[in-house]
Amino acid sequence: MKNIPFTQKQILNLIASGRETPFYIYDEESLRHNAREMKECFSWIKDYKNFFAVKALPNPSIVKILHEEGMGADCSSLGELVLSARAGLAGHEIMFTSNNTPVSDFKKAAELGAIINLDDISHIEYFEKNVGPLPELLSFRYNPGALKEGNEIIGEPKDAKFGITTDQITDAYALARKKGVKRFGLHTMVCSNETNADYFLETIDILFSLVVQIHKEQGIVFDFINIGGGLGIPYEPDQKKLDLQKVSSGMKDLYEKKIRSSGHPDVRIVTESGRYVTGPYGYLVTRVRHTKETYKKYIGTDACMANLMRPGMYGAYHHITNISNPDQLSQRYDVVGSLCENNDKFAIDRELPEASQDDILVIHDVGAHAHAMGFQYNAKLRSAEFVLKSDGSFALIRRAETLDDYFATIIG
Ligand SMILES: *Cc1c(COP(=O)(O)O)cnc(C)c1O
Repeated sequence: MKNIPFTQKQILNLIASGRETPFYIYDEESLRHNAREMKECFSWIKDYKNFFAVKALPNPSIVKILHEEGMGADCSSLGELVLSARAGLAGHEIMFTSNNTPVSDFKKAAELGAIINLDDISHIEYFEKNVGPLPELLSFRYNPGALKEGNEIIGEPKDAKFGITTDQITDAYALARKKGVKRFGLHTMVCSNETNADYFLETIDILFSLVVQIHKEQGIVFDFINIGGGLGIPYEPDQKKLDLQKVSSGMKDLYEKKIRSSGHPDVRIVTESGRYVTGPYGYLVTRVRHTKETYKKYIGTDACMANLMRPGMYGAYHHITNISNPDQLSQRYDVVGSLCENNDKFAIDRELPEASQDDILVIHDVGAHAHAMGFQYNAKLRSAEFVLKSDGSFALIRRAETLDDYFATIIG
């Protein structure tokens, strides 16, 4: 079964103090522990850093905690850049990987001194024309196309809108160098929520080969290789964890075999994981509002798809525990929200203990791509977020939206 770092009593106390469900809780101790393990796992790499994919959990308090554990930020928009700067990160700790990028975003990235990772060869001239001279350090996002098979969430690389093709990438480096770029990075991101270590090793193999090839052909020396995010987590209770140690040691072998033996100087390797960093350490706490028996049995919660859209959008599994009645699984339920949309379901035909009004349910593994995907359809409001501190207290890091927030942008 899945671990929960707080008790029903703690939640009832929080509710009694005036905090209404639904809300998110992130477990600080586990976040820090996992961040340290990740760093340790890749400690053979010189200057290894994970640039946390801010979109997974865009809250400055979380970015600060991760920064204290040595992480940077991976941003893809103006808002994420501003958020990371507000969390106290320096330019060199921010990677800017965007696509279909507006000038305003490039300008902000340049102003902060973020590491810029271009999604297309045409962005070289676009940047020069609209922002200014290219930065001294520049990276490109590579799309291996047919060289790499896709994974479920992200699809086939050749069908993905991201990145530069195999044919274009050598030209991109040659052009950037001609225009005065001195230091180079290479990036790819071809999968999402992948728990098979070999999948990453295939990708790393492709990247290392490309670095060696470009180094040989053009004499370019790479500053860093960014192997992307996509490190998966086990959402289902009996699912196997990604063997990160296997990724690391397999990468080390490939590094020796390809990079070292090619005569390319030591190169920094970085990641930009989001889900693996925060996913398992977030909990959505919701109360049972109604139960209903029609053609099926329903548990209606006070959270809905506007608070967590992964199940409705991807059919994603999220484990659910009824902490008010953690007894034997006895019923088969659909766990549903209150949107006027029939895909507003957290679970379908799920075995759960008998549920009653006001029972507290915990939806697991919502630390990444969860609260952040919230929306206001049906005039629903985004929920609060708390950090569970190591002394058992809850620190509010985002208040719940109110109707005033909802109407704040309306004119007339
Ligand atoms: C979304 C994204 C990530 C993070 O993905 P995870 O699956 O959360 O690790 C990293 N890099 C880029 C460019 C992304 O778009």
